[in-house]
Amino acid sequence: MDPVPFLVAGERVRGDAGTFASVNPATGALNYEVSAAGPRDVERCVAAAQEAARAPAWRRMRPHERARILAGIADGMTRRAERLAEIQMRENGKVMAECRAQVASAAATFRYYAGVCETLGSDVTPPRGDYLSLTMYEPVGVVAAITPWNSPLTMEAQKVAPALAAGNAVIVKPSEVTPTAAIEVAAIALEAGLPPGLLNVLTGTGRDTGMPLVRHPGVRMISFTGGTETGRAIAKLAAERLIPVALELGGKSPNIVFGDADLEAAVDGVIGGIFEGSGQSCVAGSRLFVQREVADRVLSLLKERTAALRVGMPTDPASQMGPLASFPHRERVEGYVASAIGEGGEILVGGRRPNGGALDGGAYYLPTVITGLSNSARACREEIFGPVLCVLPFDDEDDLIEQANDSAYGLACGIWTADYRRALRVAGAVEAGTVWVNTYKQLSISTPFGGFKDSGIGREKGISGMRLYQQAKSIYLGL
Ligand code: NAD
Repeated sequence: MDPVPFLVAGERVRGDAGTFASVNPATGALNYEVSAAGPRDVERCVAAAQEAARAPAWRRMRPHERARILAGIADGMTRRAERLAEIQMRENGKVMAECRAQVASAAATFRYYAGVCETLGSDVTPPRGDYLSLTMYEPVGVVAAITPWNSPLTMEAQKVAPALAAGNAVIVKPSEVTPTAAIEVAAIALEAGLPPGLLNVLTGTGRDTGMPLVRHPGVRMISFTGGTETGRAIAKLAAERLIPVALELGGKSPNIVFGDADLEAAVDGVIGGIFEGSGQSCVAGSRLFVQREVADRVLSLLKERTAALRVGMPTDPASQMGPLASFPHRERVEGYVASAIGEGGEILVGGRRPNGGALDGGAYYLPTVITGLSNSARACREEIFGPVLCVLPFDDEDDLIEQANDSAYGLACGIWTADYRRALRVAGAVEAGTVWVNTYKQLSISTPFGGFKDSGIGREKGISGMRLYQQAKSIYLGL
């Protein structure tokens, strides 16, 4: 079978950096070989994107026409939803229901930015004596959108849709673990009437493809979602060239259960918050802080309901958790569980691979709850990005806030309580970009999303998510 080509300026390209394998983590079978883009491909792609970004037809395109194209991409994704969901499932192993939901969310993102594109105006400061001023928002030019493997379609849509709405050209560098959904979306965009060169996809590794892209002087902005160390490396390179970066990075989010909470609902929220997507979510609530007076009851509910989660083939509608996205990633997760045990942790449930049968060939790992650790344990400080929950009891609010904030990360937080004054107080004190009260993982495209501290810089989604891809130009008119 020929390697899957990537897409530059509307053309399918076989790259100059060889190929790499896409492996189905549910079975261990080879999906396909994929073409890898090297420095010469990056060069050609950036040149094509620059030309497309400067083309008068794109620069002067009326917003409603740009909006029509974005809505057309959403329609095309909806028409091909099942195929897109299958691609994601085959490449990262998420259960089909979640893949379908992510395709719907990605299409909704294109539709949302079609609306923003059409309705967002420029700013006018009315006459002030002898002048008035206008502020216009111009595209930055060529944007590199570098994305991770856990939710490829939604992450890409959150970058591509606003960047195009803002009038830029985009080069997507998807994760080598989930390389091909972005190519499919770029083909849909061409069919929807997006001129070639405005949405390109370069597949390959971070080293061979991502790095040359980040270093290329023609790239005027980098929008990155992925691990904190990669984000730091990219930000250093961007700093040398003084170009803007938007960074959506890792997390180690606290999910907090107070004694007065509806404990049944809280435990379900905690389980969804960590085990959905096999814990491979940046906002996973991976540290459970539970008030000591209800800790026994919460642990007993947690044990029973976690043990009942169905781990299975992502194609099986009964499965609630599929495999981890790759075999090396499972080894990493296993390493964290071993380190937790080494630091005195006790496995309440899980802590191993499932036993035998059809799942033996895949990268499966059981949902795991660990007690007996302190917040300073490695498993509580570092992002595991797997189905591993560490339980940490607390006594009072001050103790809780100190522990919750004692983390390099600050992406999200959950609070379960019947007392809304307390909820707002704690939400105000916690260092996190998103706080959920009596719910978890609710996400709206119109609500800004991003991290405090090592969880990132900038806010995606909403109007601010489009402003990321623009530069303001203020014009003063003398009167
Ligand atoms: P990663 O940092 O390893 O890779 C992310 C992307 O960067 C990939 O496309 C990779 O090829 C590329 N890359 C790697 N090194 C590079 C380099 N030196 N230069 C340019 N590109 C490079 O992350 P991952 O393992 O794919 O994803 C998991 C991480 O993503 C987790 O830390 C998770 O928390 C984070 N994440 C964050 C959010 C968020 O919105 N905050 C959302 C999803 C995932």
